[in-house]
Amino acid sequence: MFFIGVFGINNRSKKIKEVLFKCTGCLNNKGELIEISNVFEIFFIPVFKFNKKYILKCTTCGSMYKLNKESIGKIIETEKVTYEDMEEVIYENRVCECGEKIIDGYEYCPKCGRKL
Ligand SMILES: [Zn+2]
Ligand SMILES: [Zn+2]
Repeated sequence: MFFIGVFGINNRSKKIKEVLFKCTGCLNNKGELIEISNVFEIFFIPVFKFNKKYILKCTTCGSMYKLNKESIGKIIETEKVTYEDMEEVIYENRVCECGEKIIDGYEYCPKCGRKL
């Protein structure tokens, strides 16, 4: 956050709703639709929002995906996210079938030795 006198630009994120989504990271199927926007503030009062972005976050493993703006209306209506709605992967958490968290770059699970 930075302030120029009484004006400021702040980053806000807001959970819109829970959606169905098949996570490739942990095979869970629940995600959260999150709106991230920059807010122009005067005396800490939000005046307008700009640069809106929509993010899908897996509630179990925390993987995050940036969503296509054009898909948001459909997602809110159907409460489902498909792979076509995604613009890019921001962060993908990988979890082995045994439950062990996998660090990026690993080909085998350090706990059970399964190939990933
Ligand atoms: Zn997940
Ligand atoms: Zn494992």
